[in-house]
Amino acid sequence: MEFLGLAAIAVGVFLLMEGVAWAAHKYIMHGFGWGWHRSHHEETEGVFEKNDLYAVVFSVLAIALFVVGSNGHPVVFAVAVGITLYGVFYFVVHDGLVHQRWPFRAIPHRGYAKRLVQAHRLHHAVEGKEGCVSFGFLYAPPVEKLSAELRSRGTVVAERQARKPSEPRPTVS
Ligand SMILES: [Zn+2]
Ligand SMILES: [Zn+2]
Repeated sequence: MEFLGLAAIAVGVFLLMEGVAWAAHKYIMHGFGWGWHRSHHEETEGVFEKNDLYAVVFSVLAIALFVVGSNGHPVVFAVAVGITLYGVFYFVVHDGLVHQRWPFRAIPHRGYAKRLVQAHRLHHAVEGKEGCVSFGFLYAPPVEKLSAELRSRGTVVAERQARKPSEPRPTVS
């Protein structure tokens, strides 16, 4: 296959990965995989969080595809390139720009980058597993739409009320 065809496959897979990431985030990470993902919704100490294991899983998958691809399967190789590109983009933008785990501080004030950051911040407005919005990443819906959705679910308010310290109990002496 021509180089251009392979490049088109890689770009296609990159875009497709947004759908895969969305579904994995919504149905796996906020489903049976919450045990790992929870660490990403709570304050964690240290450099790493359990949620990083998902990045490891995706990397292992991409490496396996690279191995198969370099043994005479250029299409598989192109797929691996697409997955890796998405991973790198996610790692730089999600971990760097949104969560500031990278040693750069940049806060986008307009355009697509700003919307992307805000949309993901709204995903983190909810601490628990249920009632979150905005599971995708590359495609960021308008912030007003997400806020309205979040408000209509009422999860943020419910969580805030649950966190309120309960009435101090009188101590028995
Ligand atoms: Zn999440
Ligand atoms: Zn996040």
